[in-house]
Amino acid sequence: MDETRRTTQPPEPGATARGSGHAPRSARFAEAVRQAVAEGLLGETRPLAGFLDADGVRRSVSSLREAFATEPCLRVLHTFAAKAASLIPVLRLLADCGMGCEVSGPGELRLAFEAGFPPERIVLDSPAKTRDELRLALALGVAVNADSFGEVRRIEELRSPGSPSVLGLRVNPQVGGGSIDAMSTATATSKFGVALRDPGAREQVVRTFAERPWLTRLHAHVGSQGCSLELMAAGIAETYRLAEEINGALGTRRVTGIDIGGGLPVNFDDDEVRPAFSEYVAALRTAAPGLLDGRYDLVTEFGRSLLAKNGFIGARVEYTKDAGGRRIALTHAGAQIATRTVLVPDAWPLRIGAFDQEGRPRSGPQMVQDVAGPCCFAGDVVARARELPELREGDFVVLYDTGAYYFSTPWSYNSLPRPAVYGFAGESGALRFAPVRDAQTLDSVAAESGLHHVDALTGLVGDR
Ligand SMILES: *Cc1c(COP(=O)(O)O)cnc(C)c1O
Repeated sequence: MDETRRTTQPPEPGATARGSGHAPRSARFAEAVRQAVAEGLLGETRPLAGFLDADGVRRSVSSLREAFATEPCLRVLHTFAAKAASLIPVLRLLADCGMGCEVSGPGELRLAFEAGFPPERIVLDSPAKTRDELRLALALGVAVNADSFGEVRRIEELRSPGSPSVLGLRVNPQVGGGSIDAMSTATATSKFGVALRDPGAREQVVRTFAERPWLTRLHAHVGSQGCSLELMAAGIAETYRLAEEINGALGTRRVTGIDIGGGLPVNFDDDEVRPAFSEYVAALRTAAPGLLDGRYDLVTEFGRSLLAKNGFIGARVEYTKDAGGRRIALTHAGAQIATRTVLVPDAWPLRIGAFDQEGRPRSGPQMVQDVAGPCCFAGDVVARARELPELREGDFVVLYDTGAYYFSTPWSYNSLPRPAVYGFAGESGALRFAPVRDAQTLDSVAAESGLHHVDALTGLVGDR
């Protein structure tokens, strides 16, 4: 497939992100690259780093809030899905914006606490919570969405009558998948939630709520990237109808809250923020008008749509070469930082920008090039046959739209150290940078690789 047609390059400076009214992102990020190179955050000895626009993150949170604020009676807790940017300063920024946090295990729960989220604004979702994790969540008062009937029974055993935790049940409305199988959670055989259309399942859900007055919430997360607004809204509408059915059957308002998950897709093709949160709210209003009338408290769990377009990766071009008539730029951005793009390139194409040694956008004639990474496998290529200005040794490439799930979620393949992450804010021309995560040291790489057990295997004496 010709990826040059599928993924367009960043627009010329001057193009604006729809409705933002702020400096266009491409111009702001170009300024950030230039300043990062000037300040030595990117260069020969620091050939790879992630960058996050803190002002942009605040604006994205505002657009989420405003989209739901059009419903006058509605109470909403907006949580951020921690896995989309599992970095404590990023979570702290989101807590400071008034958000809650969705976590899916002990590591993310710890990060949420370190970031300062109060327990009543934390939601624990995971398909494999241990008894210990459940005990801790219940003791702290963190909300928990059970993923199965088996987990409801465990919570029943473990919870003390006065537990402050809001407790819910995740359902799978089985409305079908989107364009990326691995990201679709509402397929017939998805591992998540109670499969609602299976024979007898709906009745069992109603019974489960009837017997357990402490269950007060329904949860659905239809999918991430690749699901249409209509598909997502159909899944939430199905969950809303189930809430109405439970409350109707019990003759009381037992289900008081609906957690609609996250999953708003991100446009990786250009700078425009599309779809907007407001379009999703409109789709929800169409699919389930009663959902937003204030009778149910809502919880949201967006991740990618809040962060992706606010971040980028910068990587130095170490060498260039030609092979089989193809120009290849060997850079420091590969599978260790763009894992999904390298392993599933058709589903996760990224826009690439070309910058010179001073961090200024390269112009000039385009040529077809591969942008490859440092990992030792042939597929470690972040963009194939891409038309870009000719890259030279010492230049920089920028991988756009990587503020979620990319630099925050590195892969330790080839023992490559995790790169530094910086936040920036301020006006163009005077951006201020702050470290979010230090680059990993080689001491840390060694420690993580069993240094403290160096003699463990030679010292094991078995049959010789
Ligand atoms: C991953 C996940 C999210 C966030 O998905 P995004 O596509 O990043 O918005 C929300 N809820 C649950 C349960 C998830 O697993």
